[in-house]
Amino acid sequence: MNFTLKPKGIQAALAKIQFRTQAFIDGKFCPSASGKTYASINPANGKPITTIAACDASDINRAVAVARKAFADGRWSRQSAAERKAVLLKFVGLLEANAMEIALLDSLDAGKPIYDCVNIDIPDSIQCIHWHAELVDKLHERVSPSGPDIVSMIVREPIGVVGMILPWNFPAQMLAWKIGPALAAGNSLVIKPAKQTSLSALRIAELASAAGLPDGVLNVVPGAGSVLGPALSRHMDVDMVAFTGSTSVGRDLLRYSSESNLKRIILELGGKNPQVVLADADIDLVAPHAVNSAFWNMGENCSSGSRLIVHRSIKDALVAKIIEQTKAWPIGDPLDPNTRVGPLIEPSHMKTVLNYIKIAQAEGGQLVLGGKQVLKKTGGNFVELTIFDEVTNAMTIAKEEIFGPVLAVIPVDSDEEAIAVANDTNYGLAASLYTSDLTKAHRFARAIRAGVVSVNTFSEGDHTTPFGGFKESGFFGRDKSSYAHEQYTELKTVWMQLG
Ligand code: NAP
Ligand code: MG
Repeated sequence: MNFTLKPKGIQAALAKIQFRTQAFIDGKFCPSASGKTYASINPANGKPITTIAACDASDINRAVAVARKAFADGRWSRQSAAERKAVLLKFVGLLEANAMEIALLDSLDAGKPIYDCVNIDIPDSIQCIHWHAELVDKLHERVSPSGPDIVSMIVREPIGVVGMILPWNFPAQMLAWKIGPALAAGNSLVIKPAKQTSLSALRIAELASAAGLPDGVLNVVPGAGSVLGPALSRHMDVDMVAFTGSTSVGRDLLRYSSESNLKRIILELGGKNPQVVLADADIDLVAPHAVNSAFWNMGENCSSGSRLIVHRSIKDALVAKIIEQTKAWPIGDPLDPNTRVGPLIEPSHMKTVLNYIKIAQAEGGQLVLGGKQVLKKTGGNFVELTIFDEVTNAMTIAKEEIFGPVLAVIPVDSDEEAIAVANDTNYGLAASLYTSDLTKAHRFARAIRAGVVSVNTFSEGDHTTPFGGFKESGFFGRDKSSYAHEQYTELKTVWMQLG
C-alpha cells in the first residue's frame, strides 16, 4: 500500500471525514434503542470528537436476532466459498480506497501516531481480510477410511452467530484479525468495539455492506462493555464469543459462558513479554528492536517486550544505546507524521501508568529515562518513554502488565537464569531472543513458554502464522493464519451407509 504522508494531506482528509456514530444493525445505521449517546474523546487534547450511540442489552438482542436470521436463511453462511471470496475481495478494494480515512479515525480515537496507522495498522488489517478471502476457496474437506459400504465425510461448517468484543489499542486491526477469518468461514457477527474506539468499526461495517455483504451478517453495537459484554456473552443464541482484551475480563467471559449456553470462548489477553539478550548478542542489532518492542504504540501493546532480560556483561552498553535511540522518538500530536509517541488512551490509564512508575521507584528500580507526564498544556495524556534499570523479576513492574511506555531492564548472569526469569510470569504471549549462536537460538526458542517467539527481531509474525498466548495470555485463541479460520468453524461427521 502506498500512502503519502504529508501534513497538508492529513488536514485535508480530516476536513472531509463524516463520523458514523450510530449502531450498525441489519445493514443500516440506527440510534440506540434508548436514544442515549456518549462522547468519544480525543486522547491528544481531551476534547470530544463526536457522540456515539450508547447501546444496551436491547440493542444486543436485536443484533443477535438479525444475525441469527441471516445465518439460518443461508444468505451468507450457505453461499459458495467462491461467492464469499468475491464479496470479501470487493470489501478489500473498498478498504484500500478508504484506508487514509480509517487510519485517521483510529489516530483520532486512540491517539495512535498517524505514521503507525498508515504504515502498519491499516495495511495489516486489509492484508488480513485479503488473506482469509483468498484462503476459503482453496480448502478441501476430508473423507475418512471407514470401509467400502460407508461414505464418511468430515466437514467444517461455520459456527453460527459469533460475538466479538474488542480492545482500544489496535481498533481496526483487532477487528480485522477477527472478522477476516470469521466472515470467510460464513458466520454472522455481532461486534462490540471498545467504548473509546468505535469509529473505525462503524465505518468498516458500512464498507462491508457496500461491498455486497448481506444485511444482518456484520452488526456493530457500540457502548459500555460492562453492559454490552455480559448481554452478548450470556446470550443463549450466541454460539461463540471471540475476545481481545484484559485477562480479568477474559475470566468473566468464561464465567458468562459456563452460566449460559456453554458458547465457545476464544481469548486473546495480556502479556508481560520478555526480550532475552544473551551475552553473545549483537547490541547494535538488539537496540532498535528493543526500543520498538517496548515503546511502539506507547507500550499499549499486548506483545510489548516490557521486560528486557539481559546478560550483565553487555547490559550497560546495551542500555546506553537504548536510551540514546529512545530519545530520538518524537512525542506529540498523533496527526503529525513525524510523531512516534502519542498520548495514552485516557486520563485514568495515564494515572495507572504513572502510579506504576512511582511503585518502581519505591521498590528500588533505577529510573534512567523519562518517568513523567509531559505536554500537559495540550490537554492530552502524554507520558515520557520510561526506562528502569536494575529491576528484579520480583518487582511489581516486572510482574504486572503496565500497558504503557515503561521498560524494565533485568540483569542476569547466565543463560539458564535468563530462561528461568523469562518463564517466571503468569503470562505467555510473545518473547524475543537475541543471540548469534544458532544452537542456543533453537534450544531457547523451544524452552520459552509463549505463543510467539521471535529470534533476533521483534515480530508478531505475518498472516500465515498464528498469534496467541500460552498461560494467562489466552484461552484456545489464535488470530491469523488457517488456525484462526478453523476456530470459527465446527467439525461435523456425516456418516452414510451405502445400500
Ligand atoms: P478490556 O478492559 O478488557 O476491554 C476489552 C473489551 O472488553 C472492551 O470492548 C470492553 O468494553 C469490554 N468489556 C469490559 N467489561 C466487560 C465485561 N464485563 N464483559 C465483557 N466485555 C467487557 O481491555 P482493554 O483495556 O480495552 O485492552 C487492553 C488489554 O487488551 C490488555 O490487557 C492487552 O494486553 C490486551 N490485548 C491483547 C491482545 C492479544 O491479541 N492477546 C491484543 C491487544 C490487546 P469497554 O471498552 O466499553 O470497556
Ligand atoms: Mg475516543
